Amino acid sequence: MSLQRLSFLKPYQTETSPCKIKLSSNENPFDLPISLNERILEKMAKVPFGRYPDPASTLLKKLIAQRMEILPDQIVLGNGSDELIQLLTIIASEQNQYILYPKPTFPMYQVSADIVGRPKLEIPLTKAFELDFSQISKEQLQKTSLAFFARPNNPTGNSFSVDQIKWIANQGIFTVIDEAYIDFSQKPHCIDMAIESDHIVVLRTLSKIGLAGIRLGILIARSDIARIIDSARMPFNITYPTQIIAETVLSEGLSEINNQIRTIISERQRLFNALTIYPSIQVVPSDANFLFIKIENADQIHQDLIEAGILVRNMSKYASLKNYLRISVGTPKENDIFLKTFDRLYSE
Ligand SMILES: *Cc1c(COP(=O)(O)O)cnc(C)c1O
Repeated sequence: MSLQRLSFLKPYQTETSPCKIKLSSNENPFDLPISLNERILEKMAKVPFGRYPDPASTLLKKLIAQRMEILPDQIVLGNGSDELIQLLTIIASEQNQYILYPKPTFPMYQVSADIVGRPKLEIPLTKAFELDFSQISKEQLQKTSLAFFARPNNPTGNSFSVDQIKWIANQGIFTVIDEAYIDFSQKPHCIDMAIESDHIVVLRTLSKIGLAGIRLGILIARSDIARIIDSARMPFNITYPTQIIAETVLSEGLSEINNQIRTIISERQRLFNALTIYPSIQVVPSDANFLFIKIENADQIHQDLIEAGILVRNMSKYASLKNYLRISVGTPKENDIFLKTFDRLYSE
């Protein structure tokens, strides 16, 4: 077999225009408290970097299990949820069977399907960005082995109906519910569904709540299923620094992170209220840490914002998302500057 099969792949790229205010990658805009950073440095100074880290991440899994009120053996950790998405694609999809996911959604599902060489079944969304199964045939579903649903969805920010997701799982399709943004949502999570099923798993990540830089993804499954998935991952995928930083933040920094999440949620509401005032802008109600808006001349506004030092994500390059922008919620000060700049550009 030749690698030419994959010559259409492109390295993952994010917009890197050097802007003072970065509202483009759905990160937590707040820093960790300095005291916590110092605690991390103290612990780092003692790490035997010549040795392999704990391959089972025992302490870290215990802390995550406590926070999620589940058991450590119901958890598999990955180098970001990206790694877990790729791992699931390798082990839970079958040759010549579809991988199903909505469109638009997080691009990694498609990329992983392409890498492993699986056919793709893309589910369109309705005008309200709900799943639209009406065009999908029974035969197609019978030929589907794996499904991914980001809930809340990226880039639209809404939450798909759990009943629709269950309907897919009930066909026997291995179903992944990616809850990367669930901390910003008032809607119930799906951990119980995962724990009760042999073919439903939930994904979480620390990336959107303050630790994108350490790459820690979390998979939750029934313990027998988690054990199988855990046996298929790379043995030392969670590095010493990642284990230590995550352990420290989860044991000493959770109340601060929870405060930051609360602020992001109330800032999201403030941005939503401010943007809905403009008559020609459509703002999608969001359960995540970003807003998805439709605006005339999105390309121009995106470029003008960059020139003003503000980077948002331009979704216009995707065929179905012409004139859509995705704006991550920033700090109150960043949001003030964004709104002021936006108002100036809009009235020009
Ligand atoms: C950002 C995002 C992730 C992040 O994955 P990590 O690899 O953990 O940083 C996963 N799923 C969705 C839907 C996302 O938007």
